[in-house]
Amino acid sequence: MTKKEFKAESKRLLEMMVNSIYSQKEIFVRELISNASDAIDKMYYKALTDDSISFNQDDFFIRVSSDKTARTLTIEDTGIGMTEDELERNLGTIAESGSLAFKKENEVKDGHDIIGQFGVGFYSAFMAADRVTVETKSIHSDQAFRWESDGVDGYTIEPSDKKAAGTTITVHLKDNGEEDSYDEFLEENRLKTIIKKYSDFIRYPILMNVTVQKPKEDSEETEEVQEEQTINSMVPIWRKNKADLTDEDYRNFYHEKHYGFDQPLKHVHINVDGTIRYSSILFIPETTPFDYYSSEFEKGLELYSSGVLIMEKCPDLLPDYFSFVKGMVDSEDLSLNISREMLQHDRQLKLIAKNIKSKVKKELQSMLKNDRENYEKFYTSFGRQLKFGVYNDFGQHKEDLKDLLLFHSSAEKKLVSLAEYIERMPEDQKYIYYASGDSIDRIEKLPQAELVKDKGYEILYFTEEVDEFAIKMMQEYDGKEFKSVSSGDLDLETEEEKKESEETASEHKELFDRMKGLLGSKVKEVRLSKRLKSHPVCLTAEGEVTIEMEKILAQMPQ
Ligand code: ADP
Ligand code: MG
Repeated sequence: MTKKEFKAESKRLLEMMVNSIYSQKEIFVRELISNASDAIDKMYYKALTDDSISFNQDDFFIRVSSDKTARTLTIEDTGIGMTEDELERNLGTIAESGSLAFKKENEVKDGHDIIGQFGVGFYSAFMAADRVTVETKSIHSDQAFRWESDGVDGYTIEPSDKKAAGTTITVHLKDNGEEDSYDEFLEENRLKTIIKKYSDFIRYPILMNVTVQKPKEDSEETEEVQEEQTINSMVPIWRKNKADLTDEDYRNFYHEKHYGFDQPLKHVHINVDGTIRYSSILFIPETTPFDYYSSEFEKGLELYSSGVLIMEKCPDLLPDYFSFVKGMVDSEDLSLNISREMLQHDRQLKLIAKNIKSKVKKELQSMLKNDRENYEKFYTSFGRQLKFGVYNDFGQHKEDLKDLLLFHSSAEKKLVSLAEYIERMPEDQKYIYYASGDSIDRIEKLPQAELVKDKGYEILYFTEEVDEFAIKMMQEYDGKEFKSVSSGDLDLETEEEKKESEETASEHKELFDRMKGLLGSKVKEVRLSKRLKSHPVCLTAEGEVTIEMEKILAQMPQ
């Protein structure tokens, strides 16, 4: 038997592949299972057009088994198999995708998508293997073949006596001692976890022998027995009909996926079938994750391509100000690169992200309108992030966010939106007034607030540092500017009143000059105020920056 060499470029590619394309070894299990699923899909497609092939869903499965003594992991499928020629072409040439060719030949479009397209997934097996054996029998051939390779020197092909159509891939695991061990791929529980994680939504059953406790016959005792089970759940919840799903189903999914320990306040189930196709389930959590407002926190949604997990946290799908959203996106239309782990920053992904952003925004708006109690729970946990959103990026996002903001207010002992504030404004009120302070209690005692309240104007209470920065970025809401009750010019007086105060001020000029002389550089100016009622004096800031902001700015690292 002569050994055939991989093409020169293949050799180099293989080396690169094994060492650098994939970030985790366990990925090879996903790739081999995806290939098995593709092979069964191809049977399905052939059956659609060829009457001599029957496709009975129950006859098709993928079986994963391991042998601790031989140190092998085996993945078997009942798919279309490969002829000698196909073995040569698909496994003898790296970057040759039989699946891509199949899709083109058979003009496979729509729903059921075949995963393969790059022609490198198979070789990921060499991340964990020092030898791979492929036994395969094509439905188009009476003779089966065995392909074998150690990944470096080339491969052999010889006839085999495999009877049934399909492919069996045996991965002989490397044994580099304790430091670099591959034993994990022999462990039942580890394999189960990997299959669940990446291949849970493969459409065909992935079978595996698992150890279960069974009661012994005629006895109280139990015994360990091996039982073949289907490991994957096959139909992803997002492919199911919304009408058939209950809130409970979504909550279970939230917890199964470990999106959070809390109960989500809302879920959104999206199925888009337009220029871009994708499904998504999004959740708005109730409680702030412990690391949410820290640099440890990683935003992102799970990303699937045709039901196969590509990325656990794809950050590009969410804007920072919606980083609290949990959930997943599945799309057949993404251009993935060969490792499937890095996405090209492509148009499709951006479109999906844009779409998701507007869905989340709409959902929050409708919550604010129709489910105030839950919205306030949400806002208590994540409102700060929305305000950061208005402030950051030079306020580019303020249009998206301004209607979602809530503030404490003098009018009601609850959070109010800016729209609600505007609606209550008396006709003669020109500004949206606000006051900043450490707590509502302290703000209520501010001398500056009294006069504004006396006029019958509502005041927004800013208790968080970001509040004032955010509204400075917004400048106005619905055509009304924001004005701090501590700013110099409150503009509450009529022309006549203004004239009168000017006169009083000049009458007492001497007194003010003397006071300024005593205080020196501690104040910029001492002047007459009309805004005081029960307090003798108050401090105000000049211009745009209020005293509260000055305090924060002074604390910031320069
Ligand atoms: P891709 O899946 O991206 O096409 P792979 O390197 O994973 O690339 O596989 C290369 C090709 O080998 C596949 O396109 C397919 O034609 C063939 N192949 C791999 N595994 C199987 C299998 N289990 N059954 C049938 N054909 C297979
Ligand atoms: Mg593949």
